[in-house]
Amino acid sequence: MSLAGKTAVITGSNSGIGLGVAHELAKAGANVVLNSFTDRDEDHKLAEDMAKEHGVSARYIKADMSKGDECRALIEKAGVCDILVNNAGIQHVAAIDEFPVEKWDAIIAINLSSAFHTTAAALPVMRKAGWGRVVNIASAHGLTASPYKSAYVSAKHGIVGMTKTVALETAREPITANAICPGYVLTPLVEAQIPDTMEKYGMERDEVIEKVLLERQPSKQFATVEELGGTVVFLCSPAADQITGTTISVDGGWTAL
Ligand code: NAD
Repeated sequence: MSLAGKTAVITGSNSGIGLGVAHELAKAGANVVLNSFTDRDEDHKLAEDMAKEHGVSARYIKADMSKGDECRALIEKAGVCDILVNNAGIQHVAAIDEFPVEKWDAIIAINLSSAFHTTAAALPVMRKAGWGRVVNIASAHGLTASPYKSAYVSAKHGIVGMTKTVALETAREPITANAICPGYVLTPLVEAQIPDTMEKYGMERDEVIEKVLLERQPSKQFATVEELGGTVVFLCSPAADQITGTTISVDGGWTAL
């Protein structure tokens, strides 16, 4: 499977799943555009290293996915966007009646509205190229809920809905739109939830992982960023030409429960 000659833009890709997805796409031959809201030497170095490792062209473009105009500017600066992976995301955990309004707004903006803006900007570019793939990194929380995650669950259900709409609007074109719904993946986003949970339940780290994080993941294993990257590469392959408007769960059986 070669994606040589294709360019992928992956939002929120200086860490975790986004970075893993970028690696797998580059390994398959795609040129990649990495992104986050910071502009540090180490961000640009990630792109340099990826280019060297996989023999592709790789760039890092700073754009804050909480701002609609910057989302659109990311696609404009990339110039080409055959594969758009909407991955940027944040989390905040609190009861709905105590949920800080600014956290709600930020989660809806970064986890949902950013994909509206990037997709709107990318579709004309894909149409011009005559081929395109939109892959939204949703979550098992795009299909099920958990308490204390109202903003995240709302944004992820929203992005699953938007995926279906984009698929219908592009159904007669060589463009597909799908969402991947990961269960727990051990990335900085999940690591950040561990200390609070240890304190809340008086548990050790291993106990939190087994009894809280992986409680609903029947495989009792984290999904990996490589597995998610592989799923994106599959969605970009000819075998997936008729797969559009759907979700693929990579969740160790969570949503089968
Ligand atoms: P992460 O914290 O490692 O990565 C999040 C990425 O988003 C980082 O690159 C970060 O810099 C970027 N980001 C955050 N705010 C941004 C902004 N304003 N503008 C641009 N970039 C921004 O977390 P992750 O676990 O790799 O999460 C990636 C995606 O996967 C998220 O959408 C998340 O909801 C989803 N997801 C994660 C898990 C999991 O268990 N880790 C499970 C299901 C879904």
